[in-house]
Amino acid sequence: MSLKPPTRYPDMADPQARPRHTGIASFFRTPHTEDLAQVDIGVIGVPFDGGVTHRSGTRHGPRAVREQSALLRRINADGVMPFTLARVRDLGDCWLETPYVLEGALEEIAAFYRPVLAAGVVPLSVGGDHSISLPILRAVAANRPVGMVHIDAHCDTGDDYMGSRFHHGAPFRRAVEEGLLDPRRVIQIGIRGTTNDPQMWGFSQESGMRVLPMDEFHDRGWRFAAEEARRVVGSGPTYLSFDIDSLDPAQAPGTGTPEAGGITAIEALRLLRALRGVDFVGGDLVEVSPPFDVGDITAFNGASVLFEILCLLAEARQRRSG
Ligand code: MN
Ligand code: MN
Repeated sequence: MSLKPPTRYPDMADPQARPRHTGIASFFRTPHTEDLAQVDIGVIGVPFDGGVTHRSGTRHGPRAVREQSALLRRINADGVMPFTLARVRDLGDCWLETPYVLEGALEEIAAFYRPVLAAGVVPLSVGGDHSISLPILRAVAANRPVGMVHIDAHCDTGDDYMGSRFHHGAPFRRAVEEGLLDPRRVIQIGIRGTTNDPQMWGFSQESGMRVLPMDEFHDRGWRFAAEEARRVVGSGPTYLSFDIDSLDPAQAPGTGTPEAGGITAIEALRLLRALRGVDFVGGDLVEVSPPFDVGDITAFNGASVLFEILCLLAEARQRRSG
């Protein structure tokens, strides 16, 4: 015996057709599976915040974003239909057996992603703090360095902090050192805020990354930022990393290290939609911290950003598969 819905209730074969407040809250109401053979794009939660330098809480990010992602529908404003282009599935959360040992946890995250990549599944991840992007890149860029569109208030190319090389302010310095990122194909958009050291993000400049500070974004706009991103990353494989603290704290208060004067939600959505055509091979949304959120606004704007990244990944994957 199995439970059968009444005849007029939308079938589970199309979960997006069901009432949005019903069912278990998977990412975008997609089916949950651990069978990689059934998946083209896997949305993965990484409930880990062991790399945080100040206010914690992003371990609760995946659940909050799953809940808010139920509000999203099938088609974006440009007509992209990710669930038609690809089999999108919720792969659940990345398993962590040593969450209190930072380097061990990061290696566990890499180990979780390696079979995902080996199966040809495009990963779309939800953190978690920004330290998780390094182990994800260890899997995504295992065979060649990738470019990156990185949207964040911070460059995250810092050095050791209080004895640790792997905190959430350093993943992209480590990724360059490990040969995972080609810094000449990296753009960092939305950088701002106070620093303790004039050279805090010096590695970005020295390694050849294009840093597009918030002042320049504010002066020249999302359209210019998108053109500049396309110029920098070119036609090669590219990763997309979106730190929710790139948004203005008025629209994303639920994050550990907010910086005043950020990108608005409409600017972020238009910037992302203007990146169609880039060969994205994976993406993440990080730093949503529900304990600091107000009325779920951060998780909701995060889920909305995540949907646009999903659209970009779905189109890029379809172009690659011909
Ligand atoms: Mn960051
Ligand atoms: Mn940040």
